[in-house]
Amino acid sequence: MSKPGVIRKLDEAVINRIAAGEVIQRPSNALKEMIENSLDAKSSDIQINVHGGGLKLLQIQDNGTGIRKEDLEILCERFTTSKLEKFEDLSCIATYGFRGEALASISHIAHLTIKTKTAEDKCAFKASYADSRLLEQPKPCAGNQGTQITVEDLFYNVATRRKTLKSSSEEFAKLADMVGRYAIHNARVGFSLRKQGESMAVIRTPPNSSIVDNIRSIYGNAVSKEILEVEEVDQVLGVKLKGCITNVGYTAKKLTFLLFINNRLVESLALRKSIEQVYSVYLQKNCHPFLYISLELDPRTVDVNVHPTKHEVTFLYEDKIADKVRSAIEAKLLGNNALKHFYTQT
Ligand code: ADP
Ligand code: MG
Repeated sequence: MSKPGVIRKLDEAVINRIAAGEVIQRPSNALKEMIENSLDAKSSDIQINVHGGGLKLLQIQDNGTGIRKEDLEILCERFTTSKLEKFEDLSCIATYGFRGEALASISHIAHLTIKTKTAEDKCAFKASYADSRLLEQPKPCAGNQGTQITVEDLFYNVATRRKTLKSSSEEFAKLADMVGRYAIHNARVGFSLRKQGESMAVIRTPPNSSIVDNIRSIYGNAVSKEILEVEEVDQVLGVKLKGCITNVGYTAKKLTFLLFINNRLVESLALRKSIEQVYSVYLQKNCHPFLYISLELDPRTVDVNVHPTKHEVTFLYEDKIADKVRSAIEAKLLGNNALKHFYTQT
């Protein structure tokens, strides 16, 4: 007869590495967290440098507030944040971050170096971290205002994850997709994404451009020339909708749907379904549109307290809101002259 196994508590380092690997599943998760931090820090310019699909190097430079020198000591500890104080604040939180988990997680599964300068400080400071801890006292150095975060050798100590993420080009494509979405939603902010050592940026949007400019530069002219802008407010539901959707002249093999709810990049099956439904009336089978939709909902009706890896948000009145979005798109498509013509002819 075989004996039961002996239950032991896992080593702290192992526990942290497992937890970190859950928060950061691939380079694009890590970069998303860092972009959100830069946006939270009110940056107007965000430059990203990548090598090996982000597995060798992920570097982000912003021109935001910077981090106070005295905070560098605890910066990468778990649940240290400058954004949330009380649990109740969660219901009206305006920042992306709130749980202080991202940098801590990254420090457990990569080599992490941070260089940062605030407006008050005369020079920048550079600090390196491992397993949540500051490795040695921050060193003064030259640097512009803002923060540069360098993540090297992501998953160097998580062999299984490294194996499942084989293709650096696939990871790069995911990074570029995510950066493009943020650049479109945050047109006020300039973004650039480049591969280390290459002079041409893969994505480059200047600060203070328009959403349509950025759609053109990222998704191309075929999309941008068919864009219809949608804007709608529903006082009863407390919903503000803004969007750029393609007219029936544009089709693609796959639906491209950029959805932001209260500025968070999310997925919603309900919305995706109602959109596909509207367009299915106008587009032929296997033809799909491009849509960028930004919804602002009453923060009290959206649950942001989801795990960082969960892209699916939950919100109240989902069906009613999906209906609202559908009718707004429908009205726009119908109201378009070219389409009216097309519609009466067929
Ligand atoms: P959270 O964003 O949930 O607070 P993070 O681990 O992502 O947690 O970041 C921890 C803290 O580090 C933030 O609260 C913020 O004070 C600081 N921070 C991180 N990145 C930046 C940045 N690019 N600019 C300024 N401060 C930053
Ligand atoms: Mg954060």
